[in-house]
Amino acid sequence: QKNHNNLNGSSHPTFSFEYFVPKTDQGVQNLYDRIDKMYQNSLPQFIDITWNASGSITNISTNELVSNTQSVLGLETCMHLTCTNMDVSLIDNALKYAYESGCQNILALRGDPPSTECTKKEGSNANIDDDTEVKQCFKYAKDLVKYIRVRYGDYFDIGVAGYPEGHPENMAKKKKQSNHRTGNINNNSSDAEMLDEEMVEDDSGEDPEEELLLHLKEKVDAGANFIITQMFYDADNFIDWCHKVYDIGIHIPIFPGIMPITTYSAFLRRSDWCQIKIPQEFLDVLEPIKENDQLVRKVGVDLIAGLCQRILKAGVVNHLHLYTMNLESPSIMLLSKLNLLPTEEDTYIDNKAIANDVVSN
Ligand code: FAD
Repeated sequence: QKNHNNLNGSSHPTFSFEYFVPKTDQGVQNLYDRIDKMYQNSLPQFIDITWNASGSITNISTNELVSNTQSVLGLETCMHLTCTNMDVSLIDNALKYAYESGCQNILALRGDPPSTECTKKEGSNANIDDDTEVKQCFKYAKDLVKYIRVRYGDYFDIGVAGYPEGHPENMAKKKKQSNHRTGNINNNSSDAEMLDEEMVEDDSGEDPEEELLLHLKEKVDAGANFIITQMFYDADNFIDWCHKVYDIGIHIPIFPGIMPITTYSAFLRRSDWCQIKIPQEFLDVLEPIKENDQLVRKVGVDLIAGLCQRILKAGVVNHLHLYTMNLESPSIMLLSKLNLLPTEEDTYIDNKAIANDVVSN
């Protein structure tokens, strides 16, 4: 069942849950139970599983997890897949695994910055057809989108990442440009370190924010049909960004990445990690209660519910993509506050439909 395309046409806001791959076997078992319970009780439109490029730290791969949630638990699943610094056979395998398990949704990502050299493998599966412009090595997410479309046609719905507050590399470039203009060049800054040589040379004078939008458009033109965004707390900026996205001719659903607030330190750490702005009103309410985790969580639900209500009311989106961090209660508390949890009747009907499916199989 492919259902991403009509989301913005639905009258009722929908939502999805994102999970990451746990490190231990026990963690994996706990996660299956949690995913299943959350799915049956709240009926998200889909769930997705992040891609762990350095798979060695976990005992299970994204592939296995996706295969099990899709084909064993029977849940509509989206698999994240990165493409840089990865052997194409790994990408081929991941796509094959997803295809064979019935998973029809891929979030196509670049992943870590690409290494400058890309080893071309003669006879590699990636060498499909010179006319397709599919690269032997994947430099950007758009290369992966193209690759999937060439190999699998319309079988997969393909999502791509969007950055309402900029991508760290573009922001670093922007900072560098403005330093050039003001003559304030600090080559030792961590921002400057983030720029690889190519990006420094590519000081074309273009506005990095506009460039990022154009790169998003390239991913859509390559065949993406939904966008999941980086987390954010600034509703006004997000609404403006959506208008810019629609204005440059992108007309596919945008799924805003919503990060519940669990503790004050995690809230600060994640915002810093993703380099996103924290609105002053968030700090004003959370800072005084920062030692009381329970209260932070409760107040956090109100703040994030307010954020969601604003962006839904603005009419720019009709879906919420929740970063669960593999926890149940923060997402469920938020959905409950937003009145988005199904009624008992809805879950009864859904469970009855599942039961009927089983009987009819
Ligand atoms: P791209 O769209 O390729 O963009 C990367 C950078 O290259 C941008 O700065 C862009 O402006 C620039 N660029 C793009 N095209 C061009 C061009 N033609 N010329 C010059 N510059 C260009 N990472 C993981 O490892 N696993 C995950 O599961 C994962 N899930 C994510 C989910 C979401 C919703 C988001 C927002 C991010 C996720 N990430 C994940 C992180 C992601 O891999 C990084 O943010 C990565 O640095 C960029 O990936 P991208 O797909 O946005 O890259």
